[in-house]
Amino acid sequence: MQVPAPFEYERATSAAHAISLLERLGTHARVIAGGHSLLPMMKLRLAQPEYLIDINDLAGELSYIRIERGPDGSGTVRIGALTRHRDLLDHDELSEVCPIFRDAERVIADPLVRNRGTLGGSLCQADPSEDLSAVCTALAASCVIRGSRGERVVPMDDFHRGPYETAVGPAELLIEVRVPIRPNGGSAYEKVDRRAGDWAIVSAGAAVWLAGDVITDARVGLAAVGPNTTGIGPISDALRGQPPSEELYAAAGALAAVNGQPVTDMRGHADYKRHLADELTRRALRRAVARARTMEPAR
Ligand SMILES: Cc1cc2nc3c(=O)[nH]c(=O)nc-3n(C[C@H](O)[C@H](O)[C@H](O)COP(=O)(O)OP(=O)(O)OC[C@H]3O[C@@H](n4cnc5c(N)ncnc54)[C@H](O)[C@@H]3O)c2cc1C
Repeated sequence: MQVPAPFEYERATSAAHAISLLERLGTHARVIAGGHSLLPMMKLRLAQPEYLIDINDLAGELSYIRIERGPDGSGTVRIGALTRHRDLLDHDELSEVCPIFRDAERVIADPLVRNRGTLGGSLCQADPSEDLSAVCTALAASCVIRGSRGERVVPMDDFHRGPYETAVGPAELLIEVRVPIRPNGGSAYEKVDRRAGDWAIVSAGAAVWLAGDVITDARVGLAAVGPNTTGIGPISDALRGQPPSEELYAAAGALAAVNGQPVTDMRGHADYKRHLADELTRRALRRAVARARTMEPAR
């Protein structure tokens, strides 16, 4: 079935308007942003909302990349939920402070999808193979969720509640993603797919922070290795307080391999995915450490 079921359609004029429509229409309504995940699901009748609330007119309110940094280099990146993949790819200052975004955006889909698909839609879709969730997990980002009674801030580690399920309630909107910037940090993303622009067989994002030549903190987020984008706590524990080395990356890779829960599917065998989780974790950490040492952006 390639035709969606009939639905009513309304364009929201503000985030508050979208939230009030969601509240009034209840669980029969869905927000549409880029539509690159929701429309295919509607065409396949995997999603059958009775009302679509289009938020594409809210670019002035929900599409932005703001980087606030203090004199010591620490600060926050604030990214509006309606920010398109294309804007994340092209933003040079974002690539300077969080090169992992450009690494990932280069290998997400194709220009057609990147021109429309949004950060908010990607995170809210909560597809286990989705790349930006792994990026935001590695960066220890938080999600600002707004309802009629106010806002709450949910860390990435608590944002996904299961495949295709998030902490965003039926009458709420994801408004903004906040990424903390800490000095002497580096990040990188590695993905293997079957062909250019395809979903990941497995991908790994890493972020590390150094003091001298010791890792003070590190995080790894993986995609396509289980029901949800997985942030692997034991990797952070193993890396903290250690000088970077090939042995350490290998130990982290081994933890990535055993901590994921990949399944065999049309993209590959579970054993192959475990091998990729190991190898891509090593590569992402190696590159993130090199960037933390030189503070090089993704080019
Ligand atoms: C051919 C193709 C290839 C792709 N390849 C990749 C890939 O390699 N890697 C990858 O990561 N992704 C890939 N994608 C997915 C793409 O990145 C989507 O754009 C993205 O997953 C969803 O973003 P969207 O803005 O289109 O969301 P939509 O489809 O509009 O919405 C998705 C879901 O999020 C909800 N939603 C959207 N915005 C909000 C909000 N602000 N608050 C609350 N709920 C919201 C919607 O109600 C819906 O449930 C691909 C898509 C296609 C079509």
